[in-house]
Amino acid sequence: MQHQGRHFLQIPGPSPVPDRVLRAMDMPVIDHRSAQFAELGHAVFKGCQKIFQTAGPVIIFPSSGTGAWEAAIVNTLSPGDKVLMVETGHFATLWRNMAARWGIEVEFIPGDWRHGADPAAIEARLAQDSAHAIKAVMVVHNETSTGVTSRVGDIRAAMDKVGHPALLLVDTISSLGSVDYRHDEWKVDVTVSCSQKGFMLPPGLGFNAISEKARAAAKTNKMPRSYWDWEEMLKPNAGGFFPYTPATNLLYGLREAIAMLLEEGLEAVFARHKRLAAAARAAVTHWGLEVLCLDPAEYSPVLTAVLMPPGHDADQFRKVVLENYNMSLGSGLSKVAGKVFRIGHLGECNELTLLGALSGVEMGLAAAGVPHRAGGVDAAIKSFEERTQANAPAHLKIVKP
Ligand SMILES: *Cc1c(COP(=O)(O)O)cnc(C)c1O
Repeated sequence: MQHQGRHFLQIPGPSPVPDRVLRAMDMPVIDHRSAQFAELGHAVFKGCQKIFQTAGPVIIFPSSGTGAWEAAIVNTLSPGDKVLMVETGHFATLWRNMAARWGIEVEFIPGDWRHGADPAAIEARLAQDSAHAIKAVMVVHNETSTGVTSRVGDIRAAMDKVGHPALLLVDTISSLGSVDYRHDEWKVDVTVSCSQKGFMLPPGLGFNAISEKARAAAKTNKMPRSYWDWEEMLKPNAGGFFPYTPATNLLYGLREAIAMLLEEGLEAVFARHKRLAAAARAAVTHWGLEVLCLDPAEYSPVLTAVLMPPGHDADQFRKVVLENYNMSLGSGLSKVAGKVFRIGHLGECNELTLLGALSGVEMGLAAAGVPHRAGGVDAAIKSFEERTQANAPAHLKIVKP
């Protein structure tokens, strides 16, 4: 079918790229050893510190998020090291598998894919480890496969409570720039992220924000590495440069995306995502469908995963929505394949974008013959009216005549 108008990319990453970012990238490639490049380099390194909320270095790799995971592992851990991870969903499982391939011994706290990493369970396990055999705690902040956000601040508090020296490695691939996250305040040792979700950029950049403790661990660990080596990066980074050809045009986009996030204000960005998520849940609940996340304290601000009623296939439903209304919804991954669809509401997304997306879902439910109660979009509108940008700064509050 030939569609008119813009495709609705409502998957939880890659997220839609704002026109302003696209225009900023529409530039000639420049000499990456020039003074002009160094200006761009310094600007993005400094800007990233604001977004990660850290005074320490943020390393930018030309890579996917998976590459940034690998960088975190090979710089801080040694073969045979023991680490503690939590099965929050598909992405936590993939990271676990990667660590195992690097010869890391992973203890994986089992999960039901409907809850975040439990700070109490981590605390209890670390309390037993009086010999400090566990070298790192590795968690996914926003589990994109389930729409559950773990409480990283509480996990840090749990680690401090038992005085355990393990490193804290956090995947913020789908949360950074959309959900409140504080690298320094939460004493995270490596924050892993990438470009195509909250940063509103095309895929292609991977990030590691690193603590002093992580950098010290990198100096003594035994893992072989070359491309991912932090110190090889940090030397030229100090002058605004990279050790090899960087993804120049993505860096132009990054500089613009950071400017957009800071102009809106991080607090307002986080409040906007919470407001969008509450409206999405209001619609889902009204339809009589179930949100996958079971703990209201862990609802994801960036996506909502929805359980299909028994006997209805989520992928068939997504196909109907794509073919009829030119909208991509996220699929269910591995354990929840066919059972779940995901509505992304991150990055370049506002009230009307979300209402458009929810309209597509509601029309799709009808077209696919999925039992539901009509009126979910109205419920979302009501949610917006009730939560009138309560957390937004004064100049962003709704103006009434
Ligand atoms: C998207 C995602 C990844 C994988 O990122 P890629 O860029 O596809 O390698 C890892 N973790 C989380 C939480 C994600 O959302």
